Parts: sequence; C-alpha cells; structure tokens
Amino acid sequence: MSTTYIGRFAPSPTGPLHAGSLVAAVASYLDARAHHGEWLIRIEDIDEGRSVPGADQAILALLDSLGMQSDREVVWQSRRKDLYAAAAERLGAHAYPCGCNRREILDSRLGVAPDGAAIYPGTCRHGLAPGRSMRSLRLRVPEPGADTISFVDRFAGLTTQHLASESGDFVLLRGDGYWAYQLAVVVDDAEQGVTDIVRGFDLIDSTARQIYLQRLLKVPTPRYLHVPVVRNANGEKLSKQTEARAVLPGDEAAGIDALVEAAHFLGLAFERPATLARFWERAIPAWAAMLEARQAAG
Ligand code: GLU
Repeated sequence: MSTTYIGRFAPSPTGPLHAGSLVAAVASYLDARAHHGEWLIRIEDIDEGRSVPGADQAILALLDSLGMQSDREVVWQSRRKDLYAAAAERLGAHAYPCGCNRREILDSRLGVAPDGAAIYPGTCRHGLAPGRSMRSLRLRVPEPGADTISFVDRFAGLTTQHLASESGDFVLLRGDGYWAYQLAVVVDDAEQGVTDIVRGFDLIDSTARQIYLQRLLKVPTPRYLHVPVVRNANGEKLSKQTEARAVLPGDEAAGIDALVEAAHFLGLAFERPATLARFWERAIPAWAAMLEARQAAG
C-alpha cells in the first residue's frame, strides 16, 4: 500500500446528503483509512446559484454523526476563487473567450457529450467575431488524433476518452460568472495534494477533461476509483430531482443502518454491528480485503 495517501469527499451543498452521496463518502473514507491515509472534506459550493443555504452545515453534521471527520480544516470553494482565477491565467492561450450562448451551441447540432452537454462547435476558437462580447472562458482541447486521454481506473480499468469528439472545448468560467467545476476541482485537488480520488461513476466522463487540465497546469494526476452509482427503481441516479430520500442525522441505530446499506451496496458483506465504532472496525478491513481480492482476480 502506498506511503502517501490523501483522499477527499467533495459534496456539492445542493441539498441534504442522500444515499447516493453517502456511498461516495463511505467509499472515499474507507479507502483513505485502509491506506492509512488522510481524508479531507471539501464543500463544492462554487455554483452559488445551486447551493442551498445551510446544506453545507447539514452535510458536515451528518458526516460527523456517522464518525467521518475531515483530517484537516474543511474548505469551501466559494472562498477560493482567487486560486481558480490564477490557474485560468496560467492556462494562457489554451483558454479563449467565447461569445456563444447555450442556444447557439445547441443549434450547431455537433453532438452531445456522454454527460449530456452539447459539444461546442468551435465558433470562437480563433477569436470573437466583430460585435460579440465574451460570455464565458473556454479551454481549447487538442485536435482529433492528439486528443486521446487514457487512465486506469482502479475499478473500471483502462478508460479512454477522445476529448475533441466526446467533450469539445469546455467552459472554465461560466456565463453567470462562476468558475466551472472542471477547473475548480483540478485546482483544489492539486492544491490540497490529493493523491486518490474516490467518487461516483457518474463523474468518470469528467476525468479525461480533468487530466488534460492537470497536464496543462503541470500538476500530478491522482489515482482514480469510480464507484457504482445508486439508482432508484426507475434506473435513475439518485438526486434531488428523483426525490432521493435524505439520510437524516438521528440516533446511532439509524446511522448504522445507513452505513450498513452503503457498505452492502459497495459489495462489503458483514453483519450489522451494534455500534458505530464497531461498524468502522469491520468496514475498513472488509474494504481492504475486497481490494485485495479484486487485485488477485486481476
Ligand atoms: N461536487 C461533486 C458532486 O457532489 C463531486 C466532485 C468530485 O468528487 O470530483 O457531485
């Protein structure tokens, strides 16, 4: 097992934590503890329009009540905008001002990225047309042929994405003035020295863009592990939109139930312990054993 391990859980405070985010929290925490590493909490409230007042404190209180505390001071993205601005500056000519609005990009019908976003047709790549003003800042991705990013996900294995056709030039600074998730997450993970990212599989499509940004910013690429996403009976990812039931901080018994459910979802089989402390005592070695078994199976 590696000597340096810094992991993190990075919830967006758009509402209370639901079963899906709890799985990501538990997986990242177990992986950090199994590696005798550090585990950090970062509140990803960079999209201030979507942040719900008080949700950050509710998430922190819930994690705390379940026995998951950040090993360092919690950071809030909304208080770190200078870091994102400085990184955008460092990207130099890889970034360019874009004057297009959402409608114009959709109308170009160039295609849709795996995450559902419309692929940017490149209209402003070579400069803003006369009379257009900047709405957003975009990152220029390499031409087809030079745009392949591959990484080995610890669960999904070799994963490859072609940035030109599957992402296109993506936004760094949004039309509403907020820094984009892709830039903020790369800057924060690098600044916090994160070595291992454990998060939901829905974010695997973002990983190639983040690795490309890491290369441009000359910061290390962490290891990645994307865990399965919890879905409801209709096969939809749990979110506020699908009315995911929030995990409520309550008595210890309710907390243990929620944790055991998350652990079972992650493939860890053990009997329900009577105390929270006992849960972690069992779950950490169970996670380590599961990783070893996966490795042995190739
Ligand atoms: N803030 C993101 C979310 O809540 C997670 C980002 C990440 O783990 O990279 O979905």
